[in-house]
Amino acid sequence: MEPHRHLSKNELSNKKPRVEIPPSEIGCGHYGCSHYKRRCKIIAPCCNEIFDCRFCHNESKNSIEVKLADWHDISRHDVKRVICSLCGTEQDVQQMCINCGVCMGRYFCSKCKFFDDDLSKKQFHCDECGICRNGGVENMFHCNTCGFCYSSYLKDKHKCMEKAMHTNCPICFEFLFDTTKAIALLACGHNMHLGCIRQLQQRLMYACPVCSKSFCDMSVIWEKVDEIVSCVKI
Ligand SMILES: [Zn+2]
Ligand SMILES: [Zn+2]
Ligand SMILES: [Zn+2]
Ligand SMILES: [Zn+2]
Ligand SMILES: [Zn+2]
Ligand SMILES: [Zn+2]
Ligand SMILES: [Zn+2]
Ligand SMILES: [Zn+2]
Repeated sequence: MEPHRHLSKNELSNKKPRVEIPPSEIGCGHYGCSHYKRRCKIIAPCCNEIFDCRFCHNESKNSIEVKLADWHDISRHDVKRVICSLCGTEQDVQQMCINCGVCMGRYFCSKCKFFDDDLSKKQFHCDECGICRNGGVENMFHCNTCGFCYSSYLKDKHKCMEKAMHTNCPICFEFLFDTTKAIALLACGHNMHLGCIRQLQQRLMYACPVCSKSFCDMSVIWEKVDEIVSCVKI
């Protein structure tokens, strides 16, 4: 039996081969906000201020601290300049920092000016929607009538209606087309956030807020725009 002994610092570093991080991957997962992990900030074209992402902009510009007349949302497609989070260099929208060479987002969409280091969401750009969606291009299909990307198994199972998702949630009034929350597709054909309809249920209301059809024993297919689709019975 070999006697127990402590390894010197040198031996330790020999034992653990140092993992070489390519320069482009430095800081991956360590920068960003509560919405996205990314290695750059955006300069809002509307107010010329610096934000982590468009949600950070919208939350800050549509809050009670701001005069109502000044409330506004950012147009993602209009973002022109970004600032590298590692070296602070302001530059045009591109994936790799022109100064330090870091990759500012493993997923990058030049059309949406969108960066995300978290590839597990399986982002892809839908040209018909004109925005990036999650869930994997291989798992989703774009319905031309609805003007929306659904998960493939909803192909013949959704109530197809002209611009079905280009509407506001009837409960919270958020626009459904680019919401990041789960959407419930009711059998009556009305769509709303799953979370919103669950709140109705908690208040023992079991009717569609638009057409008053009961949904109490209806199975609701829901879809999270940002996630792979699941089926729930509510
Ligand atoms: Zn702004
Ligand atoms: Zn954010
Ligand atoms: Zn940089
Ligand atoms: Zn995109
Ligand atoms: Zn689409
Ligand atoms: Zn459809
Ligand atoms: Zn809602
Ligand atoms: Zn309805």
